[in-house]
Amino acid sequence: MIALSLAEIASVVGGQTHDIPDPSVQVTAPVVRDSREVEPGSLFVAFVGERVDGHDFAEQVVEAGAVAVLASRPVGVPAIVVEDVQSALGALARHVVRRLGATLVALTGSAGKTSTKDLIAQVLRTKAPTVFTPGSLNNEIGLPLTALSATEETKFLVLEMGARGIGHIRYLTELTPPKIGLVLNVGTAHIGEFGGREQIAQAKGELVEALPEDGAAILNADDPLVRAMASRTKAKVLLFGEADEADVRAENVRLTDTGQPAFRLCTPSGASDVTMRLYGEHHVSNALAAAAVAHELGMSAEEIATALSEAGSLSRWRMEVTERPDGVTIVNDAYNANPESMRAALRALAAMGQGRRTWAVLGKMAELGDEALAEHDAVGRLAVRLNVGKLVAVGGREASWLQLGAYNEGSWGEESVHVSDAQAAVDLLRSELRPGDVVLVKASRSVGLESIAQALLETG
Ligand code: ATP
Ligand code: MG
Repeated sequence: MIALSLAEIASVVGGQTHDIPDPSVQVTAPVVRDSREVEPGSLFVAFVGERVDGHDFAEQVVEAGAVAVLASRPVGVPAIVVEDVQSALGALARHVVRRLGATLVALTGSAGKTSTKDLIAQVLRTKAPTVFTPGSLNNEIGLPLTALSATEETKFLVLEMGARGIGHIRYLTELTPPKIGLVLNVGTAHIGEFGGREQIAQAKGELVEALPEDGAAILNADDPLVRAMASRTKAKVLLFGEADEADVRAENVRLTDTGQPAFRLCTPSGASDVTMRLYGEHHVSNALAAAAVAHELGMSAEEIATALSEAGSLSRWRMEVTERPDGVTIVNDAYNANPESMRAALRALAAMGQGRRTWAVLGKMAELGDEALAEHDAVGRLAVRLNVGKLVAVGGREASWLQLGAYNEGSWGEESVHVSDAQAAVDLLRSELRPGDVVLVKASRSVGLESIAQALLETG
């Protein structure tokens, strides 16, 4: 956080100061909403949640060094009291980013935001101090908190923006107006809530509408709905992808025999070879997106390629590959799932599994609305077409659709099973896994299949 006095903060957010003996005292440490993250000099933001009320921690956080609480009622310790804590936090973020010398990069898309954000951050930070969204904190609370964690030294601020409806991204861009806006893809994530792909494209495209004339819209040349967003921006457009017209392209894309993508990165300023440490061919697209951002910010193809080849995963349970001492490989991609990421993960499993037995332990993809049956069926079928050794479908109705898809695609029978819950899957795998097997574990966040990956690693 750049240092700001309590008086200035109160005026920015239109709040009343309560129990503040000296309003010139400055907030010098991060603004936080979790009492455990308070440091001396912090501002604590008190939200009223379903189970906990941040206001109850007021005394405790001040004892831990917070200089004040941003609250919706007086709390008996130094506080700035506002009507709506969330909009106050947003107003503060807007005020602070205007004063930062940093270039703001925002990205959105249906799948791969966090993976790509982590790649962008790892490339840009080889050049200059970079602050970026931790994990997936991409909403109206996480975004301002991230922006507020930037300091005077920050040169690049990389922000993940999530949308669950029309107007969401527009709101986020008003809080932290980006100079560079990247749209990855328009898939079917949250399609149930949105109503259809066109609506998703409408919502994600709000990002490029918010860009200034001297900004840059970085768009996926391989996704027609994203590419069409070029007409919705005043900014310069830069395309990335495998299409010939892309400004930032990959040539000679392949998976190494360990399942890691390799390609020749071609940018307008030169070309250089990349071999990634991450798994899954979907990271090629993510890497090209990151490369386009870095190119726009003045990095050479060689600098970008070196950083991409060294980049690791910064966020948990995304294609996290662990080898057990007995030679069984567990691929934990249980963070989340949608049709695109299921397909990408299955293809990565197939590449890693050459000459080895492969297992796809899959659960429900949530929020697919009317598409749910067809999409689960298609994933089950793809597992068969990729010659995955055995499909273990875990959970209720959707899992049975996965299994049915597999069954209908070939004469599978024995090779696909449907089990009711995670424990049943663990029991089955414990008795059947053999050294050398590769196991992919993946489902939507709400299914919680990481417990399977963890159990398999503990007993390995
Ligand atoms: P969320 O909306 O939950 O924040 P996200 O857009 O941030 O998701 P990630 O967390 O990066 O996405 O990845 C989610 C899943 O999608 C992971 O399983 C990952 O392997 C997969 N994935 C990553 N990049 C792509 C891509 N370009 N295309 C398809 N799937 C992808
Ligand atoms: Mg995310």
